[in-house]
Parts: sequence; C-alpha cells; structure tokens
Amino acid sequence: MTSGTDAAAAPALQDLKPSPRMPLLFLGHGSPMNAIEDNGFRRAWQSLGTEFGQRWPRPQLILCISAHWLTRGWWLTGMGQPKTIHDFGGFPQALFDQQYPVAGAPALARQLAQQLQHPATHATLGVDPGEWGLDHGSWSVLKPMFPAAEIPVLQLSMDYSRPPAEHYALGRQLAGLRERGVLIIGSGNIVHNLRAIDRSAAADQAYDWALEFDQRVGEQIAQGQLDALADFQQLGQLARLAHPTHEHYLPLLYAAGAVHPKDAPQVFNASFQAASISMRSVLWG
Ligand code: ZN
Repeated sequence: MTSGTDAAAAPALQDLKPSPRMPLLFLGHGSPMNAIEDNGFRRAWQSLGTEFGQRWPRPQLILCISAHWLTRGWWLTGMGQPKTIHDFGGFPQALFDQQYPVAGAPALARQLAQQLQHPATHATLGVDPGEWGLDHGSWSVLKPMFPAAEIPVLQLSMDYSRPPAEHYALGRQLAGLRERGVLIIGSGNIVHNLRAIDRSAAADQAYDWALEFDQRVGEQIAQGQLDALADFQQLGQLARLAHPTHEHYLPLLYAAGAVHPKDAPQVFNASFQAASISMRSVLWG
C-alpha cells in the first residue's frame, strides 16, 4: 500500500549519496515535557542539532528507534507524512498541541525493509502504511534538534518478544547506513523505572540502584564493551530495578550495534530526572 500523500521529494535508497560517516546517537528522552520545557536536556538537543551542517554533514535521512513502538516482528514506518503521536496522558494541552510535520520516505522504507533481516528467521521486515507515525520518543527529541522538520524521518519498531541480543544484531545491520547520510538515533533511557519516580528529586539525585546501573552501562560504553550491553539481564535484581520492563533500554542496543570501530563515545546529559530516569546520552563519531 502506498499513501496518497507520498512527498515527491522523499528519497529512495539510491538517492542517498555516499557521505562521511554520520555520527550515531543514543538519546535519553525522559519526560515528554522535555519537548517543550526549557531545561538543560533540551538545550543539549538544540545545540547538537546546530552542529549538523557544520561539524557534520546535514543528514539526508533520520532513522529513529524509539522505546515507544513495540510490535510483533520488526516494522518500518511507510507513510509519506507520518503523524505526530501523542502517546501519553496527564500532560498540559501545550504538549498535545505539538506537531512535527516532517516527511517520511515510503519508497526508501520499502527498499530498506527488503534489505534488513529478522535476526533469527532472516525474514524481511514489515512496512507500516499508516498505523503508527512518530511517537514522542522520536518527535520530542527531533523537534528541538531539527525544528524546521526538513529531514525525512523513518521509525523502526522493536519486537519486544525477542531477546536483547537480536536487537543488537539488528542494530549491526544498520551500521552501513551511516555512510549514506543517515542519522541513526536510539531514543530511550539507560535507567527507566516509572514506579519509583520522585518528582521532587534534583537532577543530581538518584536511587543507589539507579546510579549503579547507570554507571555500569556508562563504563561498558566508555570501554567499548558493546556486545556485553545485551547481557544486562544477567545483573538480576539490579537490572529489574533499573528496568521493570526494558523497552527503554533496547534502543541503546540498536545504537551500540551500529557503532564503527573507529568511533569514540562522547557522553552528555549524564544526570537524572525524578531519581529513577537516567538521561545519560551518547554520541559516537
Ligand atoms: Zn519514554
């Protein structure tokens, strides 16, 4: 199925020109309010966005893997104009009023879905003609980074029924896209326990277990022990406290999978929201 609103300028795979290797991002997105609140996290996203077109080339396409699109099998968004999804409740109207009217890349999504493989079955991926769009894991970070909404965006879903190692393996398949001007962004949180949130906590306050898990993961990233990131569940109770459900951790594995041996990690936003959400973010490049 093809959406009738396919943007004429939307690129196909062959339109992606070879480029110097794009940096790679894992972003802690935290509260949806970060999309509109002036705070240090959002200012870091804004300033990062301005470096594209200067320090790095402007991306030809953005591929987001968000904690908030969980599916059976793996899917790419295939609509010409992906809708802005407000997948949350209990926030001010100003947040629901937010739109990120960016183009998709339907032809490219169909081609890419044929190239990528389910890590276990080797089946090609699915293309979603219109069910999803861009959830807040994507648009809440993209809007501050790229407010003009001029770079087409695809989202890749995550099959939550599959083991973490398969998510990492799929991330490895994405690595080559970085040589074609694609900015890959994993958007989740390295610690994410909503049951434990303490809204009165300052950014430098966190539970001991949250600090410990965050530091362990931070050390693995710094030391380049990226394969080991998929084994986080071996930490037992510590991992269960950090991630009662682990959908916010999985986007990190896609980013880690797409790391190039010459990449060096740079950490930013390494503090907490509400004591149980790590905002630690990583740029590899
Ligand atoms: Zn989230």
